[in-house]
Amino acid sequence: MTADPRGNMPPSLLAVTIDGPAGSGKSTMARLLAKKLGAVMIDTGAMYRAVTARVIDNGVDPDDETAVARVAREIHLRFAGEDSRQVLVDGEDESARIRQADVNALVSKISAYPQVRSELVGLQRKMAEGGPVVMEGRDTGSVVLPQARFKFFLVAGPDVRAERRRLEIAQAGESRDHKEVLEGITARDLQDSQRAVSPLVKPEGAVEIDTSQLDIDEVLERMLVLIVSDKYEAS
Ligand code: C5P
Repeated sequence: MTADPRGNMPPSLLAVTIDGPAGSGKSTMARLLAKKLGAVMIDTGAMYRAVTARVIDNGVDPDDETAVARVAREIHLRFAGEDSRQVLVDGEDESARIRQADVNALVSKISAYPQVRSELVGLQRKMAEGGPVVMEGRDTGSVVLPQARFKFFLVAGPDVRAERRRLEIAQAGESRDHKEVLEGITARDLQDSQRAVSPLVKPEGAVEIDTSQLDIDEVLERMLVLIVSDKYEAS
């Protein structure tokens, strides 16, 4: 079976997952790949962030798993706009809110709750039913879509990842120093890798790409070569 990089593929033929730690390049690559393949990009981290922002903004006790899970069950999430960049929560554009520091600090705790994961994983699978998707996150190849035709696991050194995040934050008009960002993502990676349910792991059958020394076009090229030629072997 050969993948068609021009898109218009039947849904069953194309699901791509991209997992990896913070700052490994998942969102950037997922967005570009989705465009190339004519697929819909689903940023699962944004969904955990949206629940976390609602928990904070509605004054829900973050230690109360049942109350937090209720937020995940009742929230209405939708991606919109160019490249699915906008995150609409109950109809409101929360794209900027979900990237703020208080959400960064709490999201790994909220996403470790099994009840929250079960709500969001259900929603993610439903979103994937609609057509070809490129889904990115921490467990998309291992838990959400283990049957995905193509799975990638992106990694990069901690300093590279922190610097990428720092630049992203700077582009959004905020200034943080490298050390502060590095500490934040290191703490999140540790929590995401050590949790009991759906920890961050390299999914079975995933191709690992170290993006530390590669630019965006080089990573995209590596992914597309695999998809187009369909010479897909686990590394
Ligand atoms: O990808 P991003 O950094 O926006 O993800 C934010 C957080 O959401 C992660 O640190 C992790 O705690 C959680 N997450 C998750 N499972 C996913 C995607 C994200 O637990 N599939």
